[in-house]
Amino acid sequence: MGGKRCVALVAHDQKKDDLVDFVTDHREQLSRFELVATGTTGGRVNEACPELSVRRLKSGPLGGDQQIGAMIANGEIEFVIFFVDPLTPMPHDVDVKALMRLAIVYDIALALNRSTALFLLASLTGGTAQEVSIDG
Ligand code: PGA
Repeated sequence: MGGKRCVALVAHDQKKDDLVDFVTDHREQLSRFELVATGTTGGRVNEACPELSVRRLKSGPLGGDQQIGAMIANGEIEFVIFFVDPLTPMPHDVDVKALMRLAIVYDIALALNRSTALFLLASLTGGTAQEVSIDG
């Protein structure tokens, strides 16, 4: 995958706007990474930031979360940004848990909300959370 470190992006439906905002706000930092995403999330990010050219996997409920899990197991993922909706039951909850489990097994950084994603991105791109944050 081009030699760049790879970041996986996933967002549940109620969190997709938040993830698109996050990626848009931090597209310069994120452009230093190869980006993969579950299908619908990747489509939304590509629409908002076509210059990032996110590689789209299958949609989460159709196996996309598991594809990211497999990439983690293969050592291809640097970190995961997964904006989780804690208020809606998911038919593919087992896949979500499996992805989180593999991130833990392989000790891959996993940001489940914006604040954590901000810290991760800051630490990996040599800034501080405040510098990386557009609010800061
Ligand atoms: P999606 O998948 O990006 O295809 O919606 C995300 C998920 O629900 O796991």
